[in-house]
Amino acid sequence: MTGSPRLLDGKRCGDALKTDIATQAAAVKAMRGRAPHLAAVLVGNDGASKTYVEAKVKACGTVGFRSSLIRLPETITEEELLARVRSLNADPDLDGFIVQLPLPAHIDADRVLQAIDPQKDVDGFHPQNVGNMVLGLPGFLPATPSGICELLKFYHIETAGKHCVVVGRSNIVGTPVSILLSRNAYPGNCTVTLAHSRTKDLPSITEQADILVVAIGKPGFITGDMVKEGAVVVDVGIHRIPDATKKNGFRLEGDVDYGSVRDRCSAITPVPGGVGPMTITSLLLNTLKAAH
Ligand code: NDP
Repeated sequence: MTGSPRLLDGKRCGDALKTDIATQAAAVKAMRGRAPHLAAVLVGNDGASKTYVEAKVKACGTVGFRSSLIRLPETITEEELLARVRSLNADPDLDGFIVQLPLPAHIDADRVLQAIDPQKDVDGFHPQNVGNMVLGLPGFLPATPSGICELLKFYHIETAGKHCVVVGRSNIVGTPVSILLSRNAYPGNCTVTLAHSRTKDLPSITEQADILVVAIGKPGFITGDMVKEGAVVVDVGIHRIPDATKKNGFRLEGDVDYGSVRDRCSAITPVPGGVGPMTITSLLLNTLKAAH
């Protein structure tokens, strides 16, 4: 491709959506006497998780939500964490909450996520919300996949009839993205291929993609030779790469090798500033929905 690809700017899209969220949050507050309230549970001291949770809490302030950050020790037992989840479920002052993943290895994350009241499950990970998503019924959509859809919508990316290849099949990103983009809706109506670590000859699949969504957790894995000329590329990956030239000692990179892919694609999400801010915005949208 000649010229630079279009940047699908998640910050710009997120800011536009946040203006509307703030207006609606003020209306909710006027109606019931309190603002929408989101709580985030952070277990342990993982640096990246701490950064994500703090960004989520900070975003609440920008749209007039109340937020609570609940920090729990790495040594907490599964039963203690489940008890905490149950008390948050029962808290009438709270509209929604998230339990930041990953959890320490001694805790069964599925058990914890399944203990969350589906009505307060603003991350959209509870099986009831996943089932509703699959069936196209109302519920909370998982934040990152729905943020990707909002971003495609904001930039009027045509999706109907396109071949979308999703690389990665996690429950929180790849699988739900594949479901949302194959739905009879906009964005959607794609013909979707879901690739994973057992996929044979991955480049022969990715190079067919009109829309390529990458969520594999490997920095710079997708290179220019794996991308079709003119494709729309959504890079979900986010990695801290040690970098002595940076003040904080690291730089952020995605799963896509931006340097070689930028000359092939027509549009791409930057890292940082692409999918990340949209994940947070979707969480705010879900919290507003829970408050309603
Ligand atoms: P997971 O580790 O849960 O899943 C990775 C997926 O990639 C798996 O399905 C795995 O296949 C597949 N995979 C791994 N290696 C290959 C390979 N060589 N070829 C093809 N497929 C492969 O990751 P997540 O979905 O949770 O996250 C992916 C990335 O997105 C991470 O960098 C994460 O930090 C980031 N992320 C960013 C968010 C944001 O807001 N920007 C939100 C959530 C995640 P298999 O199933 O066969 O093992």
